[in-house]
Amino acid sequence: MRKPFIAGNWKMYKTPVEAAGFVRELIDSLKDVNGVDVAVCPPFPALWPVKEALEGSNIALGAQNMHFEKEGAFTGEVSPAMLQDIGVKYVILGHSERRAYFGETDELINQKIKAAFTWGLNPIFCVGETLEERERGITKAVVEIQVLKGLAGVTAEQAENLTIAYEPVWAIGTGKTATPDDAQEVCRFIRELLVKLFGREIADKVRIQYGGSVKPENIKELIAKPDIDGALVGGASLKVESFTAIVKGS
Ligand code: 13P
Repeated sequence: MRKPFIAGNWKMYKTPVEAAGFVRELIDSLKDVNGVDVAVCPPFPALWPVKEALEGSNIALGAQNMHFEKEGAFTGEVSPAMLQDIGVKYVILGHSERRAYFGETDELINQKIKAAFTWGLNPIFCVGETLEERERGITKAVVEIQVLKGLAGVTAEQAENLTIAYEPVWAIGTGKTATPDDAQEVCRFIRELLVKLFGREIADKVRIQYGGSVKPENIKELIAKPDIDGALVGGASLKVESFTAIVKGS
């Protein structure tokens, strides 16, 4: 049985001071929650204060991106060694906003995923089709290429610590959610790809999250699906009340 995993992707919201105050409230709000893994993924400047605020809690820390090199002349970048040093456990890689606005390719994302494993960070690897791709009926073909290229060279042993987030681009920040059946169909397809890559035993351990307008009102029917093991939550993770309701509903 896979343990549900709810992660909050804060995107470019919350200053370090706001972030630390927020997690103090969140810890209190989630103190009676069991049986769900929870992570928050603040922007880089908030990682350290959030890590300190999370001390002793059962909420894990994640980052939203990283470079694949340990260090070097890469102005403006943050390395896996730096994230590891802070105590980051998860790192979101390949988010559709990084692909669309910052030109991230499957090849670059693959380098980042391999680097994350090298540094003991657990990737939350995002895949998903655009509206145009869905309307053209090529959702599975697009997701297959993203998964196969993103995971090239990853070993079965490493894959045990992998999370995949299926985030249809048209559902992100739009209020439109994929129907639970549509989301399940793609998540099942992703799991079958993982079977081909790593074998059934490992594929059955990998958690697949759904992301895209997840709210307290829709989490229950999404998480009820056999291949949906949690959610990567954007907007609704920015408020203690809605994020708590999503965690409690999963
Ligand atoms: P929303 O929940 O705001 O649609 O964002 C989803 C997302 O992109 C999480 O990574």
